[in-house]
Amino acid sequence: MAAPLIQVAGLIKNYGYIKALRGIDLELAPGDFLSLFGPNGAGKSTLIRLLSTQAKPTSGRVEIAGYNLAEDTLELRHQIGVISHASYLYNSLTALENIKLYASLYGVEKPERQARKLIEQVGLADRMHHLVRTFSRGMQQRLSIARALIHQPRIIFLDEPYTGLDQHAAHLLSELLNQLNDGERTIILITHNLNRGLALANQVAILVQGRLIYHQPRTDVNEAEFEQLYFQHVSQAGQAGSGLINQLA
Ligand code: ADP
Repeated sequence: MAAPLIQVAGLIKNYGYIKALRGIDLELAPGDFLSLFGPNGAGKSTLIRLLSTQAKPTSGRVEIAGYNLAEDTLELRHQIGVISHASYLYNSLTALENIKLYASLYGVEKPERQARKLIEQVGLADRMHHLVRTFSRGMQQRLSIARALIHQPRIIFLDEPYTGLDQHAAHLLSELLNQLNDGERTIILITHNLNRGLALANQVAILVQGRLIYHQPRTDVNEAEFEQLYFQHVSQAGQAGSGLINQLA
């Protein structure tokens, strides 16, 4: 197996008394595509926020592409692209201006050329000079993918990117994800859509109450039985978790 691109050990995040992550261990190699499932409040977004340097862990160790999260924040940021609910786009700028801006921030060579190329790739060539405020949710989502990819990151985190997309836009997004899943990049996708997540992934994990209670290669997952397995794991962990809360109370 290739050396891990992402190594997470004993990752803990507390928000005051809330234990959002209770000790996450995770290794992903180049080319891995992990679909991460879990109920609301499980800690999924927190995990992505920590891995993408948007929040600081309480404790634990994260190494991404050989960079340590605690020490090499800037280098590490250059390795990753994040697509989440927030588009991080400027409404009063055009599509091209937005992507050029991010290209400059990341020191991308030939920023205009690269920005145009990516905007074409996400299917927005004819909207290049339109203000982002005139874009539909699906178009903004596609442009935020261009924004996240402008510095050619080796690692991509997607936090519920299908939210608010119509079927056509969701289909386009899956096609884009398939293209990105090129055997080199490492991708973590958070989604509530079990079928979509399973279709794209080579690894499948379930996070409940801050713990990764399930992590298997996709080849070991039976698609027909996964929904049932998911609900079983979530309810078992939920019962164990509420027991723990009762003990603490
Ligand atoms: P998920 O993405 O799985 O829905 P989150 O990572 O958003 O879960 O949240 C995990 C837990 O951490 C929840 O109990 C949530 O209320 C709490 N939490 C998340 N962000 C914050 C924050 N900034 N301040 C306080 N609590 C937070």
